[in-house]
Amino acid sequence: MFIDILSLFPGYFKGPFDESIIKRARERGLITIRLTDIRDFADNRYRRVDDRPYGGGPGMVMMPQPVTAAIRHVKSPQARVIYLSPQGSRLNAAKCRQLAQESHLILLCGHYEGIDQRVLDREVDEEISIGDFVLTNGCLAAIVLLDGVIRFIPHVLGHASAAEEDSFEKGLLDYPHYTRPEVFEEAAVPSVLLSGNHQEIAKWRHEQALKKTGEMRPDLLL
Ligand code: SAM
Repeated sequence: MFIDILSLFPGYFKGPFDESIIKRARERGLITIRLTDIRDFADNRYRRVDDRPYGGGPGMVMMPQPVTAAIRHVKSPQARVIYLSPQGSRLNAAKCRQLAQESHLILLCGHYEGIDQRVLDREVDEEISIGDFVLTNGCLAAIVLLDGVIRFIPHVLGHASAAEEDSFEKGLLDYPHYTRPEVFEEAAVPSVLLSGNHQEIAKWRHEQALKKTGEMRPDLLL
């Protein structure tokens, strides 16, 4: 998958993309990430990218010219252009799985009060929110989306079925996990997990997942 990220702050991505699973996926050529500074496409002497909103009101708005030029510069015929926005449809596991099928994602990160609506109308395929709260800019949202998506790209996770075992995949939250030691500060690992009986373990895990989902996210059971 080829991923373009258009933002005013390419520096945001240095840490997260240079660590752990995203780093390994890049090194193995499973994903390629290109960072673009929208400011580089401003056609004015001061590299200005924002202006006051028509109609008045607080804050600034990202101007259509640099954002449109940046998108068109990186766009390919198969690209899917996503604007990270609190007004978008809320990101979930199913959406991450679906986006993992794409060959070219363009993630557009806003700042200030957002981006001139004409860009969204003409250049953007989809608006996605990472939750019902407002961030100062879209960079962290792009990192969250990308991290959620790449787990579903074949070979990115060490174990082929790892993503399928996680929360939301079967409409339930995950079951509890335990590792060594068998007893930690007088708390013992549930005995069924030490029994070697795979059927009993699967049954226990399913019951635990149902219990946790009922307690934490009853909406998923409905
Ligand atoms: N005026 C906008 C509104 O109320 O809907 C908020 C703009 S916000 C301060 C600046 C940028 O942060 C947005 O353009 C968007 O790219 C990003 N952003 C903020 N909250 C987000 C969220 N929940 N999900 C995805 N992106 C978000």
